[in-house]
Amino acid sequence: MRCLTLLGLALTTPLAAQTTQPLAQAAWSITAVDVARRIGIIADDSMMGRDTPSRGLELTAEYVADQFRRFGLKTSLQRYPVTRRRLDPVHSRVVFSVGARKETASFTTAVRYEGGSVPQQPVWAGALLVGGAHTAESVGRLDLRDKAVLFVPPARPEPETLQQVLRVLFLAGPKAVLMLSDADSAVFASSIPRRHPERTVIGLSDERPVTLQVHSRAVKNTLAAAGVDLAAVRTAPAVAREIPALQVGIEMKDTVTSSLTAPNTVGILEGSDSRLKREYVVYSAHMDHIGITPGKRDSINNGADDDASGTAGVIELAEAFSRPGARPKRSVIFLTVSGEEKGLWGSNYFAGNPPVPVKQIVANINIDMIGRNWPDTIVAIGKEHSDLGTTLARVNAAHPELRMTAIDDRWPEERFYFRSDHYNFARKGVPILFFFNGVHEDYHEVTDSPDKIDSEKEARILKLLFFLGGEIANAPKRPVWNPESFEEIVE
Ligand SMILES: [Zn+2]
Repeated sequence: MRCLTLLGLALTTPLAAQTTQPLAQAAWSITAVDVARRIGIIADDSMMGRDTPSRGLELTAEYVADQFRRFGLKTSLQRYPVTRRRLDPVHSRVVFSVGARKETASFTTAVRYEGGSVPQQPVWAGALLVGGAHTAESVGRLDLRDKAVLFVPPARPEPETLQQVLRVLFLAGPKAVLMLSDADSAVFASSIPRRHPERTVIGLSDERPVTLQVHSRAVKNTLAAAGVDLAAVRTAPAVAREIPALQVGIEMKDTVTSSLTAPNTVGILEGSDSRLKREYVVYSAHMDHIGITPGKRDSINNGADDDASGTAGVIELAEAFSRPGARPKRSVIFLTVSGEEKGLWGSNYFAGNPPVPVKQIVANINIDMIGRNWPDTIVAIGKEHSDLGTTLARVNAAHPELRMTAIDDRWPEERFYFRSDHYNFARKGVPILFFFNGVHEDYHEVTDSPDKIDSEKEARILKLLFFLGGEIANAPKRPVWNPESFEEIVE
């Protein structure tokens, strides 16, 4: 996984971005020795692979918080609920009602839970029939609020289009999405138990519509009474109409099987400018990893590169910005999240429950795996989506002494933009840059150990990120999105 040095970029003449003396001095507090020491602590066997939630994760969060406090940051642990729930199919049902006529579909034979949040109270909603040959664009134009969407897939669906249509329906915020299935009844019933395992619910209010598959046989009489001909809808061009006579009721019961919490560590450095200090630059990395893999002689996944390297980096950046004279005009939030490996849990919670208004967060610089691979380049993902890309190019060109070039995404087909914590900031409207050295043979293996980290290289990357963050936090204007990217990414 080596990369040819892009000499042309690295040797560009420094531009106007003159680094002030205190800032330059602060940057040199970031050292390879410190980076190696911190990674050694975070990726030590005593942290037991930092699974979410776990004792090792708690120890890591406390270590980071302790460092932040020493630097004088306003420090807190943000805790989010990690609740395990199990659906109780015997006490759950879907009811279709037309006038006095009612049909009940049972979760033991005719309803399959697919996703979304299980309603804690019974839900009743008017039905909107969506069926036939729809595309993501055509369903994107529908008003689904407060509706139970009855989705009838076409007779021969194209799998990718079907997925896109379902995703758009799900994100449009109806009360529920019910996909009507005409699969073989016995096959359908036998598939249900597999879909009712325990599931993990993150956070307090999970407002995604519940998504179910309902076997059409269980509700065919009420559908007929409401004037719906399912066979005709399946073969029709796009259909979308309300069924005023039909009300859909959903009653689901689930039980809590365990109730824990997990931490994010937050350190805030207040900005020096009385006005701009109400805006924030966020540096983030995930402190969790994948825990223990039983059955191996060395069973602890140390996650030195993934992402002790980023966590140590955020600590080093916090230390540098806390040095005398280095405090920028805008405030800076240093954030180490958990649950990344489980599905971006901690950053999702932070973005939904930020300690400051999310509109006042002007940029997120996310760091995940920066301690391995080639010594003179680091991939910066997201450059094309905002003017942070040009800011990075300018800062990079002004610091040839770092012998470090931020290069384009080398693996666009992997869609890394959507796969780490920065995405939770981006979808909320915060411009991001994501720094990442790519995977390697030790990725998610017990061999991702501290001795393999190139801490000298990492220290040079962190100095670049320090100058970048300083430039963003001191600039008169906040970063701006490219309009097409805003349209595509921000919810
Ligand atoms: Zn990972």
